[in-house]
Amino acid sequence: MKAITTMPGTGRVFLADREEPHIAAPDHVKLRVLQVGICGTDREEAAGGRATAPAGKEDLVIGHEMLGQVVETGENVTSVKPGDFGVFMVRRGCGECAACLNNRSDMCYTGAYTERGIKGADGYQAAYVVDAEQYLVKVPAATADIGVLTEPMSVAAKAIDESMHIQAARLRDIDDPGSWMKGKRALIAGIGPIGLLAAVALRLRGADVTGLDVVHEDSVRPEVLRMIGGRYMHGDLVGPDNIRALVGPIDFVFEATGIATMQFELMDLLAVNAIYVATGIPAAGRPVTIPGSALMQQLVLNNQVVLGSVNASIYHYRQAVEYLAAAFERWPKAMSKIITHRYAPGDFDNALHLHGADEIKVVIEWSRPD
Ligand SMILES: [Zn+2]
Ligand SMILES: [Zn+2]
Repeated sequence: MKAITTMPGTGRVFLADREEPHIAAPDHVKLRVLQVGICGTDREEAAGGRATAPAGKEDLVIGHEMLGQVVETGENVTSVKPGDFGVFMVRRGCGECAACLNNRSDMCYTGAYTERGIKGADGYQAAYVVDAEQYLVKVPAATADIGVLTEPMSVAAKAIDESMHIQAARLRDIDDPGSWMKGKRALIAGIGPIGLLAAVALRLRGADVTGLDVVHEDSVRPEVLRMIGGRYMHGDLVGPDNIRALVGPIDFVFEATGIATMQFELMDLLAVNAIYVATGIPAAGRPVTIPGSALMQQLVLNNQVVLGSVNASIYHYRQAVEYLAAAFERWPKAMSKIITHRYAPGDFDNALHLHGADEIKVVIEWSRPD
């Protein structure tokens, strides 16, 4: 079968021939790959960064945001049958720490986890993939068209879920963590795929959503944001001070820019008792100058929380499937606009390197659903 591989560290990507995987254990599920999304991580890998080949190998199959259709199952598999749609998770636990042993490899203490398509394990940019049922999340047929967004949505779902639970734990007047977001002022910094999917989840939870980015008002990301009831602000036209004046103090900041200066500036916007979750990972760069005393004074005096969040557990993948289903029902037109580009596997070079203002999510299309 064909697979898209990279030689880590070289910046070289190939359409290679790989042996087709087969069911080798009673809990295995084999998927025919339908679509695999491309994100900044894949682009970093294709530029020579980030990727680690499996032990003893020189190259790595890339791709971690997948959607497939079940073609075969091991004898002990009960949750899916051939024809069902599903998504395999990315991370596999270290097998040692308390988090991984508790099925929470997203909170791994040792860092010795592997990630399919990123760190020490082949990914999903291939015609077929096999893995254990415990890493599979079923996707309803009705939302298979956007099922490839499950992984990026799971990252947003985790960050939002953690924030709501922290708020409910410290603000004792809330019974249901899931209700904390309702009516709150939320700011999303960076409306790329994860930011935009966070906006979708927050709108579903009844938050008042403002998205901040530097793309043109008339481009597709602000358009989708407005279609789901959010408001867009252009970062070059409004600074943090203006946001506070125009929107008011923010109860929940969801950061997805990965720009360190911006990550600190956003703290100025926080309301009393607010929570701020950062999901962007800045590249090493020049030192950032911040008004440290003022920021820490504000944080303490206003009971504010700043949180970092990465990856997702199976619980968040299931939440992601639910968010996508609810959003597809409520805003079918907007949700259909999120996958903007579809490439054939042989066109991987364009998929990895073309990167325009009209882009939200780029996918490689491996096959069509039955
Ligand atoms: Zn990704
Ligand atoms: Zn671990």
